[in-house]
Amino acid sequence: MADLNPAAIATKWLEGLNNATDAKAFTDQFLPTGWLRDLMCFSWDLRSISGRDSIADFLSAPCKSGSNLSRFERAGLHDCTLETTRIPPSTFPVPGVPGLQGVIAVFSFALKSPAASGRGVVRLLPDGGGGWKAFTVLLNMEELKGHEEPSAGPKGYFGTTWEEEQEKRIAEIERDPTVLIVGGGQAGLMCAARLGRMGIRALVVEKTPRVGDVWRKRYPNLSLHISAYSCSVLYQSWPKTYPRFLPKGKIADFLEAYAVGQEIHVWASSTVLPTPSYDTSTGRWTVEIDRAGTRVSITPKHIVFATGIGSPRVPKWPGMDSFEGAIYHSDVHKGSAPFKDKRAVIVGACNAGIDICEEFVVKGAAEVTMVQRSATCVASQHTVETLIQHLSPESELIPIEDGDLMANSMPMGLILKLIADGGAQQFKEADKELFEGLTKAGFKLTWEPIPGEGETGYPGFLLHRATSGAMLDMGNAQMIVDGRIKVKQGVEIERIDRDGLVFADGSKILADVIVLATGYEPIIKDIASIMGKGIKDLVGDKFWGLDEAGELSNCFKPTGAPGIWFAPGPFSWVRFLSKHLAINILAEELGLKGRNEV
Ligand SMILES: Cc1cc2nc3c(=O)[nH]c(=O)nc-3n(C[C@H](O)[C@H](O)[C@H](O)COP(=O)(O)OP(=O)(O)OC[C@H]3O[C@@H](n4cnc5c(N)ncnc54)[C@H](O)[C@@H]3O)c2cc1C
Repeated sequence: MADLNPAAIATKWLEGLNNATDAKAFTDQFLPTGWLRDLMCFSWDLRSISGRDSIADFLSAPCKSGSNLSRFERAGLHDCTLETTRIPPSTFPVPGVPGLQGVIAVFSFALKSPAASGRGVVRLLPDGGGGWKAFTVLLNMEELKGHEEPSAGPKGYFGTTWEEEQEKRIAEIERDPTVLIVGGGQAGLMCAARLGRMGIRALVVEKTPRVGDVWRKRYPNLSLHISAYSCSVLYQSWPKTYPRFLPKGKIADFLEAYAVGQEIHVWASSTVLPTPSYDTSTGRWTVEIDRAGTRVSITPKHIVFATGIGSPRVPKWPGMDSFEGAIYHSDVHKGSAPFKDKRAVIVGACNAGIDICEEFVVKGAAEVTMVQRSATCVASQHTVETLIQHLSPESELIPIEDGDLMANSMPMGLILKLIADGGAQQFKEADKELFEGLTKAGFKLTWEPIPGEGETGYPGFLLHRATSGAMLDMGNAQMIVDGRIKVKQGVEIERIDRDGLVFADGSKILADVIVLATGYEPIIKDIASIMGKGIKDLVGDKFWGLDEAGELSNCFKPTGAPGIWFAPGPFSWVRFLSKHLAINILAEELGLKGRNEV
């Protein structure tokens, strides 16, 4: 291909966007196979649409029932302007087509209704007729006009002391919280920080005594498996001298300080009592809270569930009570030191399973066996960083807000499709030696998060199954290859004897300690225990996983229940998508949208 001028190509394409007066003219800027990821510009929803015709259908539909305006007309997209300094336009090699270059460009834009601004990302490909059309477009609403997130603090002195100001602010939050956030882990805290910046009163209720306890209680050798940059916390970077893969203790203490630094009001040792009730006439929930032993009633308009990825799943086998050693879930594993020279069996072959096996080996257990029931998706951390561009060390050179924009610029469904269509082969090749070693050791591998739906590898397991069934290898899987961790594969546990596990094939493994690294119950179970089973009728039981809109089901977007929101996920998702959740709430508070309106 001749030398391309990405700025000129992107500018011309943006002209077409600015001149588009109807949905058809807009979608004419796309390839027939193009994708649109619309984050709250043409609706209050998060949505990914594939195919020019489907995009046109979506944009031509009435913006809400009874309206004469189409989604496209109401939004009034305008002022699409190429960004040339923060992330200048550039070319990229088109996967699978040797020699073909595409153009990627970032642009800003404005909307008329709601009056708002945002940033977009387009990937352009030659259209075969001498022009360029969009293969992917992200339109990300970032600010409601007049209600932008402040980027600086108040100027000048207060008439009163800072402490008096804080007391007043806290009294207001406690008297009339607009939003109740259940759970003060990273997700709850980042949502609270975001809402606080937008001037929305948010109260966090956390069941443990100290913010960060959820990390303190996790197994001792736990470190994040993704770099500190990618796991940055909203508004407040980790100190540059922290390890690249953050140990859990540092995360715990940082989050505790974060709550103070971001002026987040947390009621610790507190839980929501079942079952909150909703008053349709006031649009408020009545919520009873056990506040460190005292019953308190509050009436927020919104409840955000940030209670984590579910309660530990503890399988039941006959004879468990007769086991004479220790048996417990990985969630409460306090370390392997007491089991030096003992036989350890770890049930479960995913992230927690391998970390805990490693610790038993290092701490001198006599024998360590991992029980793998079916198959696991393994990807080495190094390979993931090499092949997923936004996780590479080079990506850390740009501000995290820009990194988030780029990381979210491709629809999740498209990412999975590209991997299933051949991208998985790259991952397999890169970790070939490891996979051969694991297979030889009797460990079974898989690439399909949903049987029959394609090999989408680790990203597929993350998006569909919250990483359940997957192992992001930090180097410790080699212990399986080397035989330091034995594998018992593909046979169900039939019962537990007083001295070990008996399998369906009649074999037995002697054990002094059994750790159940068996994952977590579905999130809806925890939520239903607070909200009552009826919540399932309103929101369904699917959390996480891709919904019919191609986005994370029920997460960070309007659910079917009034004022009920869900905020689960890794740091990177919460950091980015907390904004969409907060803008949705703000828009309801400002009367820009109806309750539950999508
Ligand atoms: C081995 C391992 C490695 C991981 N690596 C990464 C990584 O590299 N990058 C990454 O981004 N993520 C990683 N994660 C996953 C994820 O980020 C964490 O699980 C994270 O803790 C999720 O944050 P959260 O705030 O949603 O949930 P949690 O951290 O579980 O916090 C939920 C909070 O809610 C509280 N709570 C629960 N129920 C109630 C209730 N009813 N009332 C009041 N409070 C309640 C809990 O006490 C807790 O404080 C990893 C997880 C594991 C286990």
